[in-house]
Amino acid sequence: MGFNMLPISQDVTSSYLWIPSCLGRFTTNSAYLAILHNDFTGKAILSPSPFWKDIWKLQLTDRLRLFLWKIAWDILPTTVRLQSIIPDYRPGFLCPLCKSGPDSLRHLFFHCHFARVVWRLSPWPLDSTTLDSSNLRDWIQIILTPGATLNIPIVDHHRFQVFATVACDLLWFHHNKALHDKNFFDARTVANLITSTFHQHCDAWLHQIDPVPEKWIRPPLHWFKINFDTAIRDSFSSQAAICRNHNGHLIKFASQIQSKCSPNKGEALAAQLAVSLASSLHLNRFILEGDSQVVILTLQDPTIVQDWRIADIITHTLDCISPGTTWSSRKVNKSTKFGAHYVAHWAAARFNSSCITTSSGFHLPHVPFVSGTDPTSTVALLLNP
Ligand SMILES: [Zn+2]
Repeated sequence: MGFNMLPISQDVTSSYLWIPSCLGRFTTNSAYLAILHNDFTGKAILSPSPFWKDIWKLQLTDRLRLFLWKIAWDILPTTVRLQSIIPDYRPGFLCPLCKSGPDSLRHLFFHCHFARVVWRLSPWPLDSTTLDSSNLRDWIQIILTPGATLNIPIVDHHRFQVFATVACDLLWFHHNKALHDKNFFDARTVANLITSTFHQHCDAWLHQIDPVPEKWIRPPLHWFKINFDTAIRDSFSSQAAICRNHNGHLIKFASQIQSKCSPNKGEALAAQLAVSLASSLHLNRFILEGDSQVVILTLQDPTIVQDWRIADIITHTLDCISPGTTWSSRKVNKSTKFGAHYVAHWAAARFNSSCITTSSGFHLPHVPFVSGTDPTSTVALLLNP
């Protein structure tokens, strides 16, 4: 109807024109220049807003970044999406994984039984249905800024981004396997694969981000070294201590959860945990290593007050060292005691207080405690000097 009202000249033949080119013909060069100069009508689509720029800045592989970009545009071919484009598209498809929900990305990533298991076993045990929002772009925004919505501390942002993206990617992969190849898996298997892939990505990025950490030095023969560290969260703190022998083999590690405190107090509590670890192993020769100058100096000379808030803790710590014990303390860089660093963050993520002993000469990655279903195996790989 509306077309009849348009004043179209009867003398001119209609044809397609490529407006960005002065000749009206499409060339890749003119398209490239049009993108550069935002010459299209749909500027919002092509203009590189901070949102899109942030996706390309993520520390993920190019393929995973592109995958997030596709999610944001909702262009992955689920039944629900195809039906929105092609009304005649055969309806009635259910999610090929669980067969009890619609075949949509929102179902697959947040409501599917598979997604729930994946998130329940993740380092951030979240109810995946609470992550759902009306727009998939909001989900990408959560991945870009997990601190704003999920209160994930900044030190865990990258790990969360890797996990969330790997989870979506592998859920999509298994969705397609089930749909096209009739290849079915159980939710636990998919969750385990996601966790192990997540660890591989974290490990690879860790080496890229911090390629040359200060080397961890083995203690002398018949000596033990205990590295300690703390992680401070909004409502609590965690401490970790790791004991290794002169071969560098892990003997025992401990983690604990305490109330929220200052970084110095957290480090002092970690030193206390390290000494109690030494006591539990009846060590009479050990070296304490931490990255807090204040705590190390106070351990070496408690009469010089570095921070009054930790004086009592350090005094009590020193009282716990058995008479006749030979020990020393040393400040190291963050990268050197990275094992303790990661155990502290692992304990904070799991809200976990534990004490794990390994038989002498046993490498941590083989401890039965390490499974593919929690971040411990990441910790384990990092612990191995
Ligand atoms: Zn499902």
